[in-house]
Amino acid sequence: MNLELCDFCAQTKTSEILHNVCFSLPANSTTLLTGANGAGKSTILRGIMGLGGLKYSGKILLDGKDIAKLGIDERARCGIFMSFQEPVAIEGLSLIEALRSALEARGERLALSAAKIRISEALEKVGLSPFMASRELNYKLSGGEKKKCEIAQMLVLQPKLVLLDEIDSGLDAKSCRNISKILKDYQRETGASFLIVSHNLKILSELKVDQELSVESGRIVKK
Ligand code: ADP
Ligand code: MG
Repeated sequence: MNLELCDFCAQTKTSEILHNVCFSLPANSTTLLTGANGAGKSTILRGIMGLGGLKYSGKILLDGKDIAKLGIDERARCGIFMSFQEPVAIEGLSLIEALRSALEARGERLALSAAKIRISEALEKVGLSPFMASRELNYKLSGGEKKKCEIAQMLVLQPKLVLLDEIDSGLDAKSCRNISKILKDYQRETGASFLIVSHNLKILSELKVDQELSVESGRIVKK
């Protein structure tokens, strides 16, 4: 899936955080997004996903179609997936329930037994126990477990454009290499594009980075 950001801006009530950000991600490619703390990396990812809190303007072309006016759920249905820098815990909602509702929202009704199998396979790949499926989403999980859980969700939901915000923070070195390998295999199987924010290059060990973009004070300064 090809993504093109054109003159993308993000504003609070009093200031502008992103200033006319433009770049494109070809299908089946990996882009690394770097920059200092507070540069605007997460805001770019959140803006592509349409997450609230800021006013956005500009175009977000997904295979040529502008999705900038679509809600988060519609963007997810278009095949965009975002893994959060700090995944939030939702008490009372299990991982399996969350994933079944996400699948159902895009018209895929899975029986509980089938969902369990699919989720268990994904959990095993990322190095988590299948029991994680019935635990409350991210509730009292360790930092690294939360990140693995995010990748397990990606494997179940099969997105075409994957936004990973510091997926490696909290992961030990071995898990980081494993996740890198999982991402590589996933890209080979699905042709998905990755936009990866990272300060730790281990996550890229198995991946071929096609482009690096650097953000400084809300602007892309190096392509
Ligand atoms: P990073 O590159 O570290 O991921 P962020 O994109 O999270 O940086 O943030 C960029 C800047 O925008 C920071 O100064 C942050 O405090 C500010 N910012 C982000 N979201 C909001 C918001 N909803 N309201 C006010 N300021 C925000
Ligand atoms: Mg960030």
